[in-house]
Amino acid sequence: MDAINTKAQKRVLVAGGAGFIGSHLCEALLAEGHRVICLDSFLTGQPANVAPLENHPGFTFLRHDICDPLAIGEPLDEIYNLACAASPPRYQADPVHTMLTSVQGTHNLLELACRHDARFVQASTSEVYGDPEVHPQPEDYRGSVNCTGPRACYDEGKRAAEALCFDYLRLGRADVRVARIFNTYGPRMRPDDGRIVSNLVNQALKGAPLTVYGTGEQTRSFCYVTDMVKGLMALMALAPNPKVPVNLGNPGEFTVGELAAMVRRLVPSAGRIVYQPLPQDDPQRRRPDIARAQALLGWQPRVALAQGLEETIAWFRDAGARQERRSRK
Ligand code: NAD
Ligand code: UDP
Repeated sequence: MDAINTKAQKRVLVAGGAGFIGSHLCEALLAEGHRVICLDSFLTGQPANVAPLENHPGFTFLRHDICDPLAIGEPLDEIYNLACAASPPRYQADPVHTMLTSVQGTHNLLELACRHDARFVQASTSEVYGDPEVHPQPEDYRGSVNCTGPRACYDEGKRAAEALCFDYLRLGRADVRVARIFNTYGPRMRPDDGRIVSNLVNQALKGAPLTVYGTGEQTRSFCYVTDMVKGLMALMALAPNPKVPVNLGNPGEFTVGELAAMVRRLVPSAGRIVYQPLPQDDPQRRRPDIARAQALLGWQPRVALAQGLEETIAWFRDAGARQERRSRK
């Protein structure tokens, strides 16, 4: 399997490639000279995210739901599985489909990896730690997830997907790696996505009140999307297989209130902060321990939150202007 991955040009399938992180990954892979098959159902992803790639000779798009079995008629060297809605309101809108996407969908892609002898990276999540009792979270912490709550379709789905991945690895059926992704933000998040960064930035640009759930004292660690993509690609490239999950995230930890205050400082039109009820099972604290990623991959995030927020705000400002121009035509 290592021999395949030293080839200069690889054929790479990115499931969930029309989504936020996936579209940046497709772009980075094409920039490195690889061929990319982007597969997506457009559940939460958008055609506009990959529209600039459509004319690239190395890019192919396939509309497909990974819950349905799939066959690819050309060789594949690598598969990234990013297909799954990541925003709590979006993944809770159809919780059964969310669970099936992680379990049945990941199984379908793992079978594809076996058939093609393709290396596989699974996008897991910090949500496998649930509302953690250990802080920061190292990979050997087993987590505290409410398996009957409204977030379980996502958290438990991703945990089951990890179990499947490690079974395929132990059985020698596929060269599988698991990235536990912590909160990631940047251009191409959907404005109606419901996650905190896209909510706050869009509210601020419209002069609407900034919604903070609960007291705003809960914390998250925010990783800029280009840093995340580099981490995912480094995990794919790593030889030999680490055989353990790897946290990818920015260890800078901020309260939700601090984030809202930062957005208000960066967007002069921002309105006041309004407090709304905290959703059920909302984790109180979250910060990755990235010692393993640093040691194995030589990776750590480079983009500071203020810098990444400025890039994100500029992109949403332009996106808003583009939409206004379209609606005037
Ligand atoms: P996203 O919602 O923008 O992207 C997910 C993509 O998967 C979308 O394009 C969507 O249409 C597609 N998709 C969903 N279900 C599908 C299905 N059944 N078949 C085919 N395509 C399907 O989310 P994102 O933020 O880009 O997240 C990408 C991956 O990273 C997800 O697997 C998510 O769980 C994981 N992750 C993201 C974060 C984050 O903060 N962004 C944190 C932890 C984990
Ligand atoms: N949140 C908030 N206002 C919003 C959206 C989210 O205060 O408009 C909070 C949410 O309750 C959580 C944190 O921000 O504590 C991160 O939420 P997000 O949905 O982005 O990701 P999560 O880490 O919860 O999956």
